[in-house]
Amino acid sequence: MRVAPIACLSDNYAYLLVCPETKEAAIVDPSEPDPVLRAVEQGAGAGDGSARDLEATSRERVNVVAIFATHHHFDHIGGNEAVAAKLGITRIYGHASDKGRIPGQSHFLEDGETFTLGSLLVRALHIPGHTTGALAYHVTREPNAPVVFTGDTLFLAGCGRLFEGDPPMMHASLGKLAALDERTRVYCGHEYTESNLRFAAHVEPSNQAVERARARAQALRKEGKPTVPATIADELAYNPFLRTSSPEIRERLGIAPDAPPAEALGVIRRAKDTFR
Ligand SMILES: [Zn+2]
Repeated sequence: MRVAPIACLSDNYAYLLVCPETKEAAIVDPSEPDPVLRAVEQGAGAGDGSARDLEATSRERVNVVAIFATHHHFDHIGGNEAVAAKLGITRIYGHASDKGRIPGQSHFLEDGETFTLGSLLVRALHIPGHTTGALAYHVTREPNAPVVFTGDTLFLAGCGRLFEGDPPMMHASLGKLAALDERTRVYCGHEYTESNLRFAAHVEPSNQAVERARARAQALRKEGKPTVPATIADELAYNPFLRTSSPEIRERLGIAPDAPPAEALGVIRRAKDTFR
């Protein structure tokens, strides 16, 4: 399968997801119409080389048939109606509980529900915390490594703010993502990786995986390239929100060794909220 990140607004990513067999495609989180329509026009080769580790891309015609909304925030759904009108899209997916909050929504998904995009199998994972209706789209097609679009719930080296949920909710949602195949490629909603890694280094200074990830992210950003994707294995190695049992993080933030993981996540989240 092919995934091309589309830079939108100041630091958002929309994505073009293409089935290589049928050329059927979906747009994940079209923040604004113009960059998305340009990327579709250019075909699956769009996205400034960031599809580097995917199958060879070519500038081919794709047939966009669906929009996948990860959650209702305007910087993720702002382009829904214009993109759908322009491309004749009639399928707009989102979580069932986001009814009325996602413009043009036609499909109201429950946790675990599956559907297809060409020969790709897509599974909805309900991951509340950032918002109550947050949804990840988990996409598989053998023999490719799976892909997951995590919106503003799991970022590379970070997690979203708890606007509508609480720490136990976010902890359960991140646990669901962390339990995916370790090779799964993570595509998130924002380019926050460098600042997230700065925080990760602050709370877990002896973690060498953080240092390696920082060097990688800095090199990519210097060339103007996205840091996405990372794998679930990468995230388990350096993302402090998946490392609530790390003794170093607990010591640095004054979390008791026997405090429950969800409580630890709440403390880490609050520390990140005020970290500069
Ligand atoms: Zn959001």
